[in-house]
Amino acid sequence: MNANLYCTLRQGFPDNLDTTAIETDQGLCYSWRDLERGSAMLANWLGSLDLPKASRIAAHLDKSVEVLMLYLATLRAGHVFLPLNPAYQSAELAYFIGDAEPAVVVCMPADFGWVSKVAFQQGTRYVMTLDDQRGGSLLQRAAHHSDQQTPVQRGTDDLAAILYTSGTTGRSKGAMLSHGNLHSSAECLHHYWGFSSSDVLVHALPIFHVHGLFVAIHAALRSGCVMRWHAKFEPTRVLADLPRATVFMGVPTFYTRLLALPALNQQQCAQMRLFISGSAPMLPETFEQWRQRTGHAVLERYGMSETLMLTSNPYRADARYGGLATRVGGSVGFALPGVSVRMANEQHQEVAPGEVGSIQVKGPNVFSGYWRMPEKTAQEFTSDGYFITGDMGTRDTQGYVRIVGRSKDLIISGGLNVYPVEIEDALNKLPGVLESAVVGVPHPDFGEVGCAFVLAKPGASLKPADLLQALKAQLANFKVPKQCVLLQELPRNAMGKVQKNLLRQMV
Ligand code: AMP
Repeated sequence: MNANLYCTLRQGFPDNLDTTAIETDQGLCYSWRDLERGSAMLANWLGSLDLPKASRIAAHLDKSVEVLMLYLATLRAGHVFLPLNPAYQSAELAYFIGDAEPAVVVCMPADFGWVSKVAFQQGTRYVMTLDDQRGGSLLQRAAHHSDQQTPVQRGTDDLAAILYTSGTTGRSKGAMLSHGNLHSSAECLHHYWGFSSSDVLVHALPIFHVHGLFVAIHAALRSGCVMRWHAKFEPTRVLADLPRATVFMGVPTFYTRLLALPALNQQQCAQMRLFISGSAPMLPETFEQWRQRTGHAVLERYGMSETLMLTSNPYRADARYGGLATRVGGSVGFALPGVSVRMANEQHQEVAPGEVGSIQVKGPNVFSGYWRMPEKTAQEFTSDGYFITGDMGTRDTQGYVRIVGRSKDLIISGGLNVYPVEIEDALNKLPGVLESAVVGVPHPDFGEVGCAFVLAKPGASLKPADLLQALKAQLANFKVPKQCVLLQELPRNAMGKVQKNLLRQMV
């Protein structure tokens, strides 16, 4: 049997390949046959280069359906897809190209000058171009090749993609994902979230990241459903699409921006069956507001580049958890079928329900290690084969998992553990507070103390001293931040994650 992931995804295509697979926000329509033929031609072009097995094919590109075809072509040709955030500049790109040594780099025509310089210096053989209007050398080359191709034979452990982690501390690491990892996650989400060919998925996420590329695209291709394709997340355009859609996936910021539109209401969402959120924590307040405005409880899920998806709130009654079907705001739900998730102490043993532990995971979805970093990889796995995610969390007696923060964000003040999420939750409930982020900063006496960054609601006037005073009335003194700074905005990366390293630098 061929374990090439393309074969799994191809099985989901409908019998009639001339039906619509993707409709873009620019009014273009791609059929399933277009995806099949376009990716075949690109795969045949890759094949004609006679590259060594598992060569890396890097894409430093704006989002377009042709980038998706390049991804599928890379799978079909048996190579390794390496998506890179198009916002990366020269020094960043030099690091990724130097580390991954791709045989092919595809960039935007406008970037060809500097990207080709960086790539050729690092030994890349082919630098091609592709813009978001189907222009550039890549498609010109592919046009000379046949539109028929049989996916190259691959085993479950063969490498399919490398995703570089966002790397808020130290060097970014390349997470190596195999055909088997991606297959197991695609199958699991397809079933658990009830995808079918009658779905219409609004795709507004970037596709250089696990969320937009693997979670959303695999779910759509595997189920043969239509994608409404947005080059960028534009709240009004997404809202206009909801009446003809059934599923939406977004980061929490997408939801808060949609909530800011007065036109969002139940009627707009009457056809929708599922709203999914992930990549960063959704505030329970956002979850509630969304329910009130649209009548839908957002399904929050948790995962990461290294592991793909790990936990999910239930889509329907989950027999493994006593038939529970409730989606709980502030929780990332249950371990997904086939995935083992434990909250562990320092001896890597499961802690009691309700206690905070290091989140450790195992399953066919978990990557094999970091690209060319065997020592780093060994440090991140326990002797019984669990991957140490670096997140801290709790699980209640019903099985709901809650994330309390990254272990490196944990504040140890006077020897006592302070979990930033607990302080942030308390701050967010104070009158006039819109949002907050708490980080640890060095302190001569306590080792570390908390520093809170707070955003005010529009029109509210807040005083840092009053906020800290209010916290003192609710929390043990060692948990109360010693400093509080008011900000207009929290620094976030492309996936909406608060960049706590930048906040620490500000103090
Ligand atoms: P990435 O590899 O960029 O997807 O980042 C993975 C990290 O994002 C995880 O280790 C978590 O810290 C965080 N994350 C993902 N989903 C959630 C969620 N639903 N709630 C809180 N944090 C999340």
